Amino acid sequence: MQKTTLLSKSIYCGILSISLLAMACTTKKEEKTMSNESNGGNPLTQKWEDRYNGIPPFDKVKIEDFIPAEEEAIAEQRAEIKLITTNAEAPSFKNTIEAMEKTGITRKRVEAIYYVWQSSMGSPALDSIQEIMEPRIAGFQDSISQNTELFKRIETVYNSPEKEKLTPEQQRLCYKYYTNFVLAGAKLDDKNKARVAEINQQLAGLFTKFNQHQLADESDKFIEVTDVSQLDGLTEDFKLAMADAAEKKGKKGSWIISNTRSSIEPFLTGANDRTLREKAWRMFTSRGDNGDANDNNAIIPQILQLRAERAKLLGYPTHAHWRLSDKMAKTPDNAMKLLEAVWAPAVERVHEEVKDMQALADKEGAKITIESWDYRYYAEKVRKAKYDIDENEVKQYLQLEKVREAIFYVAGELFNLKFDQVTDVPVFHADVRMYKVSNKTTGKQVGLWYFDPYARDGKRSGAWMTAYREQEKLNGDITTIVSNNCNFIKGKEGEPVLISWDDASTMFHEFGHALHGLNSNVTYPILSGTNTVTDYVEFPSQVMERWLSTPEVLNKFALHYKTGKPIPQDLINKINNASKFNTGFSTVEALSSALIDMKLHLAGDKKIYPKTFEKVTLAALKMPKEMVMRHRMPAFGHIFSSDGYSAGYYSYCWSDVLSADAFEAFTEAKGPYDKEVAKRLYDNIFSVGGTVDEAVAYKNFRGHDPSTDALMRDKGFKVKGK
Ligand SMILES: [Zn+2]
Repeated sequence: MQKTTLLSKSIYCGILSISLLAMACTTKKEEKTMSNESNGGNPLTQKWEDRYNGIPPFDKVKIEDFIPAEEEAIAEQRAEIKLITTNAEAPSFKNTIEAMEKTGITRKRVEAIYYVWQSSMGSPALDSIQEIMEPRIAGFQDSISQNTELFKRIETVYNSPEKEKLTPEQQRLCYKYYTNFVLAGAKLDDKNKARVAEINQQLAGLFTKFNQHQLADESDKFIEVTDVSQLDGLTEDFKLAMADAAEKKGKKGSWIISNTRSSIEPFLTGANDRTLREKAWRMFTSRGDNGDANDNNAIIPQILQLRAERAKLLGYPTHAHWRLSDKMAKTPDNAMKLLEAVWAPAVERVHEEVKDMQALADKEGAKITIESWDYRYYAEKVRKAKYDIDENEVKQYLQLEKVREAIFYVAGELFNLKFDQVTDVPVFHADVRMYKVSNKTTGKQVGLWYFDPYARDGKRSGAWMTAYREQEKLNGDITTIVSNNCNFIKGKEGEPVLISWDDASTMFHEFGHALHGLNSNVTYPILSGTNTVTDYVEFPSQVMERWLSTPEVLNKFALHYKTGKPIPQDLINKINNASKFNTGFSTVEALSSALIDMKLHLAGDKKIYPKTFEKVTLAALKMPKEMVMRHRMPAFGHIFSSDGYSAGYYSYCWSDVLSADAFEAFTEAKGPYDKEVAKRLYDNIFSVGGTVDEAVAYKNFRGHDPSTDALMRDKGFKVKGK
């Protein structure tokens, strides 16, 4: 059974994991912590409360503590590293690489909480703190990766014949340290090192600005509707949420279209008022592009120039080459090949979709030509006409809390995990909940899962997963603490929140990242959980999306919010029949973003004018005129609010190839709950983190290299030569 597979997430997905940024993490000496505590020092630097194996002190956060806490943590890690580099003994795995893995525990604690505030508790006061924090973190990071004495020791260990005697995980750790240092410029001379550090500083500042502009446009801009007839076509729930948003902005009695994906997409899907649809679409697609104080167009070329210069210094032709050198794809060429292979059939499919929509509009006598702001609206109509399926009807069977129970059920079946809510712990917002996660058989706690489901001001849009703490065994049995964060519109008190099929799929997706963290069973924190290469990290999450449409989930959890009756088989059949519907749209939306990202970062130091570049590149690609990129450049936070997904948006497509192919391992066997395949999935994918080369891990699970055929079949595209 297959579902509407999206090439990328239906809503902004990401992983915030500080150890992706930090080369060194976790665990410091107990005595030091004790002295902090007795000093009555900064609450952010102190050891977390022991209950449930450790809980973050969300109730003790004062944002003015962030900078002093980070300073204290940096000083501490600097001293720890100094002990390593001044060690008179010859460099060994234990006194250098493993020792590095033990540094920076306080910093990790401070940054874990800081990143929660940065993503979920934004405020103007925090903005100014961020402007100081981000360059400081980047600067310290550079001081580590450019530390000559440290690198010499790492290099010695890496090249030593002794390395062969280490465990495979330890050898992998050596490889990671060595590669990360080299990629960050450890082999450069002092002059170039200084320049790379300077570039990173400047980039950190620009990323912060870009992100702040985008967030500001999402929260400050909105459309106020005062005439209820303009909301025709929208569901009552959605109208209520709009009224609620208006009340929060002091506009009681009217309705607000917020400038976030979770508000805009349902609006564009349902609203009959075409003029208002266009207005909302223009507002959303112009984020960061309004020629005002929050315009991002001037920032983009600066970021690109700096990245190009840094890549050259590091010995790579472009930023894309540098970024991909240690990824599964290895080269931009390999990534482009995949994107281009899927692009043409996807565009072809969009033309068919538009044709269907135009025909329907003509039949209705609408006298319009389908435009971008009509796509979701008419697609929904075609879906109803062609497949007799109504998103709102499906929604009545998708209660947020039932979907949450469903993901718990799947985690129980595949990975033998159980979830128990805990209420006596501090949370950073009243809407946040925490669950203790344990092994069903042994009862042993494997981690904690925080859930922050609802949208609010100051919270980044989209959905994502964060690890507040990595699983590791270097310093005892440290269990992980992860969170899933979404932006559902909170309904009326006591009433179930109904979500769309896509949103339910997103829940499974983000939970897949969480399970990647929760199942982790490794020794070293830097190799733990989701700390894998970026073009692989979306694979465990994307594959989890597949379980939403399994009969086990639908029959037990897709229950009507009023009658409690399970979703009728007839409707399930319709969902299945419609599973390849609109795949042109979702694929082109994501692929156009991925292609622009890659082309931007293959352009080298050529000066880029964002508006022209986007227009010309899309025209050359023959982007259907009825469509817009999922992330237009001025609001493409994935690639401009950090280096994280830069030249990396293709990863969603890359991972989707893996997930489509991987799920066929289940369908070829006894089905989605086949215990043997689930065990292989756990053994080779979900439990190993980054301890195994990702391509090898995949092959160990599947028995062969991934092929794009499964993805093409999944989307209903033509498989070449077949
Ligand atoms: Zn994801």
